[in-house]
Amino acid sequence: MNKYVSTRNSGVSVSASRAVLLGQAEDGGLFVPADLASFKRDYHEIISQDFKGMAACIWNMFFDDYGSDVIDDLVEKSYNGKFSSELITPLAKVGDSYVLELYHGPTSAFKDVALQALPNLLTCARSMNGETDEIMILTATSGDTGSAALAGFSDVPGTSIVVFYPDGGISETQRLQMVTNSGSNTAACAIRGNFDDAQAGVKKIFREIPKPSEGVSLSSANSINIGRLVPQIVYYFSAYRQLLDMGSIKDGDAVDFVVPTGNFGDIMAGYFARAIGLPVRRLVCASNKNDVLTDFINTGHYNRKRDFYKTSSPSMDILVSSNLERLLYYICGEEHTVSYMKQLEQSGEYTITKDELAEIQSVFTGFCASDDEGAAAIKDTFEQESYLMDTHTSIAWACLDKYVKDEVPKVVLSTASPYKFCASVLSALGLEVSESDRKNMEVCHEYTGAAIPAGLSGIFDKTVYHKDIIDPSEMKEYVTGKSHR
Ligand SMILES: *Cc1c(COP(=O)(O)O)cnc(C)c1O
Repeated sequence: MNKYVSTRNSGVSVSASRAVLLGQAEDGGLFVPADLASFKRDYHEIISQDFKGMAACIWNMFFDDYGSDVIDDLVEKSYNGKFSSELITPLAKVGDSYVLELYHGPTSAFKDVALQALPNLLTCARSMNGETDEIMILTATSGDTGSAALAGFSDVPGTSIVVFYPDGGISETQRLQMVTNSGSNTAACAIRGNFDDAQAGVKKIFREIPKPSEGVSLSSANSINIGRLVPQIVYYFSAYRQLLDMGSIKDGDAVDFVVPTGNFGDIMAGYFARAIGLPVRRLVCASNKNDVLTDFINTGHYNRKRDFYKTSSPSMDILVSSNLERLLYYICGEEHTVSYMKQLEQSGEYTITKDELAEIQSVFTGFCASDDEGAAAIKDTFEQESYLMDTHTSIAWACLDKYVKDEVPKVVLSTASPYKFCASVLSALGLEVSESDRKNMEVCHEYTGAAIPAGLSGIFDKTVYHKDIIDPSEMKEYVTGKSHR
């Protein structure tokens, strides 16, 4: 049986289902497979199947205590009829490169791929581990996690969910997607602060009140939960399979992935895909003006003590990328990871060794792009290739432009529908932007002809159920209150 260990103490060792259930280790570390090398296998076994088959195969490897019949059932529940594309994550050729569209799920962002899966993995883990407590999902969001998590957990028996988001830090569309959620077990609450304040508050609550009331236990839907990360590994394989089907690569050719990055979850899934045998040459970490990861990958010095910028790619406005800790564990080992995380907490910075940096640089490249560069990418790709991308994808596209040009195929991960960030997309196209996102969607549709996703066109007429705004210092009390319903 696979064991999952805490990145801060490999003596803490749990089963896969337990790791999914707990979300995060008690010592503040994240769960990772203790022996990643043992997962390595022939990738043909995986890519010979359709998306659901690939998912079943990968979930079985990582969640081995569930049993393969159960996994088949969970995969079916998670993806059947939930995505508007048969391929789940279709690949488009754009110019000389490729765009992997991850946003065809219910909330039009890539997080649906994982968050349609997590509630199923979690409720199953609960019964496997003999737990009777209600699971209360607590999550901080810079926009997309919140709506996708609410959509995933809404009215799932035995669960409830509280989502905190930065007040004013997300788009009108994202906010409406959350505050109009009608689930009887859901809450969305604005925080006077930025994403990092919300995330720090959530981490603190996990440390201080893991059981906010009798019969209720906390769990996480953030990408720190291994149950979210693993389903994301699947689409890297799906992309490879589609490149083969398109005749764009020969079997065995290596591919580069360019990943618009915030909390380092998406790109970490790419690292896992590579580690278990997918022919990936490099992973390009694309950041916006919040370029802490670009500096880290280039210098080995992580320094969160810098200005925080609100950009037009808000889901990437992050100064502390939680999932990086998983990479540190594999590259630097437990002892150094503990020390770096301690330094990060105490002084806001740390520096890895030269050897560690060299190992990271052997796989990862880091670039950043400004809002203006992202906007130019949206306009240029639309005008030259008739392809419309959102503000996060366009940051990755602009980073691709700075990256080496050679014959290795480059796949840009597209993390949101352009309609989700419609105002910024219109402004990039040089069109007039209205106060109303509804109007913006209509204008965008008229101009580009791109279809508005069904999940987005309806939100403007829905009832607003969630109106709370609180200070970060009030978060704990809020959660305790919600747990007594
Ligand atoms: C969450 C998100 C990202 C960043 O993904 P991470 O896994 O946090 O690095 C990028 N783009 C969009 C649209 C997102 O919602």
